[in-house]
Amino acid sequence: MKTPKCNSCNHHLEWKKIYTSLWFPQKSTQCSKCKSNHEITTPLFISILTIMLAGQLALVIKNFLSLSSIFMGVVVLITSIFVLILLISLFIPYFVKCSLV
Ligand SMILES: [Zn+2]
Repeated sequence: MKTPKCNSCNHHLEWKKIYTSLWFPQKSTQCSKCKSNHEITTPLFISILTIMLAGQLALVIKNFLSLSSIFMGVVVLITSIFVLILLISLFIPYFVKCSLV
């Protein structure tokens, strides 16, 4: 898997920089080679897929633990969704689109 290429020099943008821009979208991503700035956009279906996948897996985890208390079930569900979104988002930089700013 490769991260998107810089539009002006074809150098692959750094995973770390793209990942940071996912959580802080106001920051533009700079190419480490030619210093041109890029705007990172995540395709909508990737965002939807991430949330759906996290939701489904969290339900599986919750059912697997078969907790008796509803409160614990909700806590486990929310925590799982949060952790899963963080985990899945580690792969998002390989699917983003970038354009020169
Ligand atoms: Zn570049």
